[in-house]
Amino acid sequence: MLKNQRAKITIQCNICGEKFTLRGRRAPGGQVDTGFKQCLCDNDTQFHITEEE
Ligand SMILES: [Zn+2]
Repeated sequence: MLKNQRAKITIQCNICGEKFTLRGRRAPGGQVDTGFKQCLCDNDTQFHITEEE
């Protein structure tokens, strides 16, 4: 297993339903940093996040 494994992340906004597909880097703790900040609708907390291998 590589430590800096790339992950593909799908983020769906729970407010407006917009979907974003991002590539992130997995941190040692298992969290994936995508740099994603907020949706087009200004929502920055309500998301459904799916990780794809
Ligand atoms: Zn949204």
